[in-house]
Amino acid sequence: MAIETISLSGRKKEVVNKKMNFWEGLYLVAIIKGLFITIRHLFKRKVTIKYPEQVRERSDVYRGQHQLKRDELGRENCTACGLCALSCPAEAITMTAAERKPEEKHLYREEKYASVYEINMLRCIFCGLCEEACPKDAIYLTESKQLVPAMYGREDFIFGKDRLVMPLTQAMINAQSQMTR
Ligand code: SF4
Ligand code: SF4
Repeated sequence: MAIETISLSGRKKEVVNKKMNFWEGLYLVAIIKGLFITIRHLFKRKVTIKYPEQVRERSDVYRGQHQLKRDELGRENCTACGLCALSCPAEAITMTAAERKPEEKHLYREEKYASVYEINMLRCIFCGLCEEACPKDAIYLTESKQLVPAMYGREDFIFGKDRLVMPLTQAMINAQSQMTR
């Protein structure tokens, strides 16, 4: 079979360069055909939604927004080892490590901590590999079902510790529920 005659979709049409007649030259039939296709789509079920006003329902097992965990004393778990950044296929995580001072023992669980920890949400694909790689149980994807909100500035998508670290009140609630178990 000649290469010119092969058609994967089966809808291949030969283009014929024949001269148009008077009616074809007016393009009226073609325009009416096009309008008919548009009108037909108006009555079909829409596949798109008006995000962010409308949000799709997520599956029960969906994992959203990251959180940097605190322990039962409210101290940050992360020790800035960099394993999450290393395992991230999207290279979305960056951090700066710092040494804990003696007076900061109540803030950070390990001797080293992340003074800066950032996730670029424009890169993140919510694969969860950072959570898998973390040896300190410090980062995890929450069950909040929250995706990143729609924003206009690129810099707004860089989530720092102010948006990632677990709120202290939540850490206290978690600690209390563990004690009552
Ligand atoms: S969820 Fe995946 S892509 Fe997102 S920061 Fe973690 S490892 Fe990277
Ligand atoms: S979140 Fe976990 S893997 Fe990432 S730097 Fe902190 S301790 Fe290491």
